[in-house]
Amino acid sequence: MKLLTFLAKRFVAGETAAEAVAAARRVNARGVGAIIDYLGEHQASPDAARAAVSEYLRLIEAIRESGVPASISLKASQMGLLVSPDVCLENLLTVAQHAGRFGIRVWIDMEGSDLTQKTIDVFERLRPRCENAGICLQAALVRTGSDLDKLMRQPLSVRLCKGAYKEPPSIAYTAKRAVDGSYRMLARKLLEAIPRGAYPAFATHDRALIHEILGAAREKGVDPKQFEFEMLYGIENNYLETLAAQGYQGQVYIPYGTDWFPYFMRRLRERKENVYFLVRNLLRM
Ligand SMILES: Cc1cc2nc3c(=O)[nH]c(=O)nc-3n(C[C@H](O)[C@H](O)[C@H](O)COP(=O)(O)OP(=O)(O)OC[C@H]3O[C@@H](n4cnc5c(N)ncnc54)[C@H](O)[C@@H]3O)c2cc1C
Repeated sequence: MKLLTFLAKRFVAGETAAEAVAAARRVNARGVGAIIDYLGEHQASPDAARAAVSEYLRLIEAIRESGVPASISLKASQMGLLVSPDVCLENLLTVAQHAGRFGIRVWIDMEGSDLTQKTIDVFERLRPRCENAGICLQAALVRTGSDLDKLMRQPLSVRLCKGAYKEPPSIAYTAKRAVDGSYRMLARKLLEAIPRGAYPAFATHDRALIHEILGAAREKGVDPKQFEFEMLYGIENNYLETLAAQGYQGQVYIPYGTDWFPYFMRRLRERKENVYFLVRNLLRM
């Protein structure tokens, strides 16, 4: 377990909000922004969800006191979606409205497909009351094009990712080429929606896709400040500095906390080299 904790440190900034803010400060020094995520998901009791809310309120204070510009990210199931949508909404409102007082953006991560509709529903109830809230959508899901069309009827901050959850072929693209094709199509849709109030965050480390998005943005004459690129802590993200030097906005997503296991497993599953790295280290024990 100690070795696992050691290996997880590659992807997780530490156990406390102070360690996450320190990581955000290092990222800021490179000309790149930060999004801080307190790890946790699938809270089954109102008390556990409330504890996560309290930690987010402490995190917001830590961000504010540090003066380091950072957004925050959270999961609907961490805020009590499994308890009830009403409990989740109330908790989200507490965090998002407090963050909003200090100009801090709040991203809602997207979880497995069993929670997609419920997450979108709670976001739809949240956003008229919290302009600082944005939602993540996954290119791997076949439904995302239609979700985006519905959500974009009003101004929308949306993070587009490929999707980190294993989903069945009945509802998801499973081949990399198909997921990339979907991402490309959705990215174009988002760039076109900027004049109608869309603020896209392209969350990917895929250089080929980033170059295509940059090309499409230039072609459409989009201002570099009207969208951003996001990458994960612990995955090669130096390219954000290059982009920042060219006037584009970049953010690093920085997770912290003790509940790192599911997040760590998703990072391992994404890339087989990570599994070899883990096995090599376990064999050395
Ligand atoms: C800021 C941010 C927020 C995210 N939020 C969500 C969310 O809310 N819900 C969700 O389902 N997913 C989320 N994801 C994860 C995302 O869906 C993908 O699983 C992940 O980003 C890998 O996809 P990719 O777009 O980088 O492309 P890929 O084609 O998978 O990877 C491109 C390149 O990136 C590098 N890379 C990618 N993953 C790893 C890894 N684990 N370890 C080492 N190198 C790697 C490799 O060099 C790879 O060739 C988020 C990702 C980012 C960057």
